[in-house]
Amino acid sequence: MHRSVIDAIGNTPLIRLKRVSEETGCEILGKAEFMNPGQSVKDRAGLFIIRDAERRGLLRPGGVIVEGTAGNTGIGLTLVAKALGYRTVIVIPDTQSQEKKDTLRVMGAELIEVPAVPYKNPNNYVKVSGRLAEQLARSDPNGAIWANQFDNVANREGHIRTTAEEIWTQTGGKVDGFVSAVGTGGTLAGVAFGLKEKSRNVKIALADPLGAALFSFYTEGVLKAEGSSITEGIGQGRITANLEDFTPDFSYQVPDEEALPYVFDLIQEEGICLGGSSGINIAGAIRLARELGPGHTIVTILADYGTRYQSKLFNPEFLRSKNLPVPGWMEEGPQFSV
Ligand code: PMP
Repeated sequence: MHRSVIDAIGNTPLIRLKRVSEETGCEILGKAEFMNPGQSVKDRAGLFIIRDAERRGLLRPGGVIVEGTAGNTGIGLTLVAKALGYRTVIVIPDTQSQEKKDTLRVMGAELIEVPAVPYKNPNNYVKVSGRLAEQLARSDPNGAIWANQFDNVANREGHIRTTAEEIWTQTGGKVDGFVSAVGTGGTLAGVAFGLKEKSRNVKIALADPLGAALFSFYTEGVLKAEGSSITEGIGQGRITANLEDFTPDFSYQVPDEEALPYVFDLIQEEGICLGGSSGINIAGAIRLARELGPGHTIVTILADYGTRYQSKLFNPEFLRSKNLPVPGWMEEGPQFSV
């Protein structure tokens, strides 16, 4: 029995991705993070950030947690906050999916939508959330903290202590590679540190969407971004504190055209319903499988559940507006009539 929803965070299953495993001759395993109570990998960061703030004596009962987020961290923070008696104020770029915004409102977060502008702009959602946290820390009677997921290493600590441990145990130590995209870098760097502590032989790969700058940083030493992606929650332009001291063994740049067909096929053929960032991760896992050759076990992250993107990723009109291919089944009418 779980004493609260918090105990239901983590210990997610590792699911074999059948078709891509058969095609590569590797075992490609997806860590089903969409099975967390907030339906994403970010419940772990939410929990570790709040527990860390409590340990430091920064949070009082009824206190406010402020965060800038593409949505999933806000959902994770809010469910943990509700279970522990805190409140959340979430600053989100207005480009993020309506479903994530609706979820946050339903859960009782106070939601502030801001225009999506680059990090260097003072009105960027991350910077707005930092300033707001400072203001509320002074004005709210119960005080406030800034979760600061990008530069708060309690985020990656959560993945070192839980995600990496779980992957090691679930594979019986038979894991040759791990690959994921980066939002904050908590998942990639945290799992990398955790697994490398177990075995120096585990290869770590970055899968970067277009529009992110890490691929060029790890391959050429310069932060340079080109192109764009419809994926949400990933695509980083700087070296966050969570990425400090981390270097991947391999780096891949994955266009949406390569990644999204895996998401569409997994729903139709294997019953696994995922968001776009998981497609980038799976495409990265396939590239790493080809790099290492058949017979290896590669783990990646199934980061969040697909219904969160019904109005975008699973909307033919939206896909066409982005010049992305629309899978045939998405446009087919009903096959049976009564
Ligand atoms: N996928 C999705 C859907 C996310 O919301 C996030 C978090 N922003 C990530 C991947 C990346 O995780 P991390 O922040 O740990 O790099």
